[in-house]
Amino acid sequence: MSLLCAIGTCVCSAADIPEKAASSVLPEPRLQAVPFTQVKITSDFWGPKRDTNRLASISANLDNLEKAGNIANFKLAAQGKREGYSGPLFMDSDLYKGLEAAAYTLATDYTPELDAEMDRIIQIIASAQGADGYLNTYFTVVEPDQRWKNLRDAHELYCAGHLFEAAVAHYQATNKKNFLNVAIKLADCIDSVFGDEPGKRAGYAGHPEIELALIKLWKATGNDRYLKLARFFTVHRGEKFFAKEHNIPLDQYVGDYHQDKDSIYNTTSIMGHAVRAAYLLSGCVDIGRETQDEELLRMVRRVWKNTVYKNLYITGGIGPSAHNEGFTEDYDLPNASAYQETCASVAMILLNHRLGLLYGDAKYADVLERTLYNGFISGVNLEGNRFFYVNPLESSGSHHRSAWFGCACCPPNVARLMASLGEYLYATGENSLYVNQFVQGSFKTEIKGKPVKMHVETDYPWDGKVKFVMDMDDPVEFELFVRIPSWAQNVSKTAPSGANAQKVRGYEAYNRVWKKGDTVTYNFKMEPSLILAHPNVKADDGMVAIQRGSVVYCLEEMDQESTLKDIYLPPETKFTTKHDKKLLGGITVLEGEARYANVPVLWLNQLYQPFPGTQHKKITKLSSKETVAKSGPAMGTAKIKAIPYYTWDNREASPMKVWLPMAPRLEAFASEGMEGAATVTLSFTSHNCYPNRIKDGQFPKKSNQHPGQLTHFWPHKGGEEWVSYTWNAPVETTLTRVYWFDDTGVGECRPPVSWLLEYQDDQGQWKAVDASTPYSVELDKWIEITHKPVVTKAMRIKVKQQDKFAVGIHEWQVIPLD
Ligand SMILES: [Zn+2]
Repeated sequence: MSLLCAIGTCVCSAADIPEKAASSVLPEPRLQAVPFTQVKITSDFWGPKRDTNRLASISANLDNLEKAGNIANFKLAAQGKREGYSGPLFMDSDLYKGLEAAAYTLATDYTPELDAEMDRIIQIIASAQGADGYLNTYFTVVEPDQRWKNLRDAHELYCAGHLFEAAVAHYQATNKKNFLNVAIKLADCIDSVFGDEPGKRAGYAGHPEIELALIKLWKATGNDRYLKLARFFTVHRGEKFFAKEHNIPLDQYVGDYHQDKDSIYNTTSIMGHAVRAAYLLSGCVDIGRETQDEELLRMVRRVWKNTVYKNLYITGGIGPSAHNEGFTEDYDLPNASAYQETCASVAMILLNHRLGLLYGDAKYADVLERTLYNGFISGVNLEGNRFFYVNPLESSGSHHRSAWFGCACCPPNVARLMASLGEYLYATGENSLYVNQFVQGSFKTEIKGKPVKMHVETDYPWDGKVKFVMDMDDPVEFELFVRIPSWAQNVSKTAPSGANAQKVRGYEAYNRVWKKGDTVTYNFKMEPSLILAHPNVKADDGMVAIQRGSVVYCLEEMDQESTLKDIYLPPETKFTTKHDKKLLGGITVLEGEARYANVPVLWLNQLYQPFPGTQHKKITKLSSKETVAKSGPAMGTAKIKAIPYYTWDNREASPMKVWLPMAPRLEAFASEGMEGAATVTLSFTSHNCYPNRIKDGQFPKKSNQHPGQLTHFWPHKGGEEWVSYTWNAPVETTLTRVYWFDDTGVGECRPPVSWLLEYQDDQGQWKAVDASTPYSVELDKWIEITHKPVVTKAMRIKVKQQDKFAVGIHEWQVIPLD
């Protein structure tokens, strides 16, 4: 193995890559995290959240896992049963993650009860393990002859990875080997099957995770075979193994979803399923670091840039699309349909943590901070018992947290990171100490074998003042690196005399002999600022978001004077900052005077028209649904209150937005019909029915495309309902167009069994139109009813609903006579 090869100037085959070179070709500083067991967190912000995690979430997770059958599956496997398995085939992994979280709390806040409960569950898990070490309850109970036959979809290696992580955490917390031995037996079983050696088979995990987990197991056991196996699973990736496994011709194979498109070394951009992609990259950092594989690390840095500069939400989450739980194309960052899975935010934290340790560059801790305070903690409510899987940046008020999920990957993932948060704050190099995050508390570590202890005082993230006080008995010489957050525009500081800061990779570094009482203070002044997105992000075109320090804000409609859709924020909008200890667990709120515009503009038979006459007025608090529209078009000012994004959906259901327009968005009715001028009435409306959506001129492409707000009769199901248009002056028409809504697979809206178009005659009597075309209930198209001309001030659609279903209508146009 030549040095030339190791630094990546040639394309190495997997077998050529060194397992662990004696001397490093990688740059310094290659830091070590200060272990979370050495970090005490007393922050008013994180302390209560971690207590809630420890006292509420972890036990809620274990209870829910037991209820959902995760533990019962292990009992079935142990008893040799072939029936009764419950849940998706990756159920085991969620239990392992729940146990990993519990193990971290054992390490910091030991209780004999939790220790015993873990032993009970570990015993059940161990009893399900085969004599050959194999352990996966789905395949043991349901499909014992299908082991290792579908690596792409079956999650066996993914589940194993989570077992390894949990077992290592448990071993480190308790020094007991009961769980670790299960992991070792399973890892040996996997190692006996997969590898480059003769007689072993090819393959890698459809859902990466095992790569980084094997590195943990290698470090805990010292068994080099696990490092070698981790590398084997990583460096072959992209050889299109899944095409072979599923007999897909290579010219028809699309490997993006599983990161199996091209050799991992040639990967240039983030792709496919977001959690898989970021777990894989995290494993690549570990393996690159431990095997001196600079070419692999160069790939990670390249893909990191593509992710952070083109595919990252302002909240630090990734993966815009529900379709593949992942990426689409660069700059595609929609807000209402943002997927941003909570697990993907966890994965971003894992990835940036590893990169920060390897390179000692503050840009990684910056991203970690963005994710930590926004897209990550939004995943759990304030009580710690309801969770987001999907984290949109805009909601009509219908997206809520759940107590549990059929696919329960996210809740235990939040719990394990929250329980080990201390691990992500500080790091040490040979002669250096890095402060990456600002969290009140203290920590102990050693530099060159000498004890170092530091206290941190701060009210972060609400206040940017941070004070570091050294507290070791004997002086120690080292370089203290303090991260300067990328958002901080205005920084002041104090340091002991003679300590001069050098700017290094986003840090300020002080080299001196530190002694007890030495104090460094920083004030990262926090001003609320309006944030712009790159112009290529079409979803945020003409919009701004609000950020203060590391915290991204949002508006929930319940806090506003005007309806959220009418609010806009001109660039000169000013905010005042107020800390409200009682609101949402204690938060800093931003208050200001925004502007609003509620100006419907009809475009029927017009290409140009004067700006519509409006009233300019100060509004008073409006009810959430029927707005100033009632009192005519209006523009004016409205008081607004912004709350941290992570706290949304902790109160009553309410529309929410992170990005707001900078200029008024006039409500344009671009239809060729006369419905824009009509008043809409329904036979029944529920809290989430929006009557005016039926005539908003936003035309659907598909019946199943939910526009966020919709006109429908749900939850009235079956029976007859109607929706009517009434006009101030008579209209003359021979043509109506209707576009049905249908959310099969998601909700309870379907087209009607039958329907009828009626008009009101001079006497106020409803009469059916004399139609010459059939009343179709076809989906994904405009249904046209041509009828004899009528002159009327009111029309209505009567529907007969399917049993157990409600009718929803995207649009209804009433076209004028030529
Ligand atoms: Zn998840």
